[in-house]
Amino acid sequence: MEEWKEILANCVTDAETLSKLLRVDRKKLDKVVSKYPMGINRYYLSLIKKKGDPIWKQCVPDVLETKQRLGRSDPLKEKKYSPVEGMVQRYKDRVLLAVSDMCAGYCRFCTRKRHMGIKEAVLHERYVQKAFRYIASHKAIRDVIISGGDPLTLDDERIEYYLRTLRKIKHVEIIRIHSRMPCVLPQRITPKLCAILKKYAPIYFNTHFNHYQEITKESRRACNLLADSGIVMGNQTVLLAGVNDDAKTLKKLFEGLLMMRVRPYYLYVPDAVRGAYHFRVSIAKARRIMRELIGYTSGLAIPRLVLDLKHGGGKVPLLPKYITKRKGKRYIVKNFENKTFYYADVA
Ligand code: SF4
Repeated sequence: MEEWKEILANCVTDAETLSKLLRVDRKKLDKVVSKYPMGINRYYLSLIKKKGDPIWKQCVPDVLETKQRLGRSDPLKEKKYSPVEGMVQRYKDRVLLAVSDMCAGYCRFCTRKRHMGIKEAVLHERYVQKAFRYIASHKAIRDVIISGGDPLTLDDERIEYYLRTLRKIKHVEIIRIHSRMPCVLPQRITPKLCAILKKYAPIYFNTHFNHYQEITKESRRACNLLADSGIVMGNQTVLLAGVNDDAKTLKKLFEGLLMMRVRPYYLYVPDAVRGAYHFRVSIAKARRIMRELIGYTSGLAIPRLVLDLKHGGGKVPLLPKYITKRKGKRYIVKNFENKTFYYADVA
């Protein structure tokens, strides 16, 4: 059996095992897990350095999850924008195909927490075929995101089947893979998988690191292997209270990502998810953090801060306020050090 499959097969999913490994209260754990299942693989577990650290908070169930009345189980109303089971279409030219509900671990803050570990399933072939037919018959779709859960929980052969079929549809120009594997189970990134991805270039790969403690020898190897295969790598980070909601931590993370050829792409203001409400960070704080980053590290290391609007309103970029006043064609602009400049616009 390949190493990644073995690690995946031995995920910690029950309170009894975890309570022995981490010395946590089993009863409390049981209560949370019965509502929101747990899944932590041994690799990710090994990254925990101490109780309550950023890795712990992302994967170990917390009693706070069950004490919340705020937030929604489907804040983005993905169901409403699903023309075919397993597919989300929020924009005319893009679709997201959720091919698997499984992940290499269940993140406690997940927007799709309502599915995680509850309905462990691969998208049925009947729906996959329907989705392909839908994409083929809608010429405006030029960008397809293969997502989940985590699509790389599936076998290489299955991944190749998706890529091969999509590449046959002439109007599909961009194929993206969204997977947290380089971070949570980097052993999944094998030379065989990379050779498959390379065959169907251009492939854009968006992964998901939230903290620099997730950057390890293994994750570096995985990202470099992907980059060496010509895959364009990006990263989506979720701003999480108590995990990474300060500029110093994010700067270290983003600079670390660049060093393994992963470009920070999005920084999300966390969605209002029921059961993950304690991870929320205010917009004001998120913009303050961006202000502390812009100008203090290279532009390459700065992702776009975005807010995913509820009810499927789509993503909107947020920026700190730099233009403070306008007088006719003249603007008063504050730079990153808060110094005032005048800028004369086109006459
Ligand atoms: S890997 Fe992604 S989809 Fe899976 S639980 Fe984590 S955030 Fe959710």
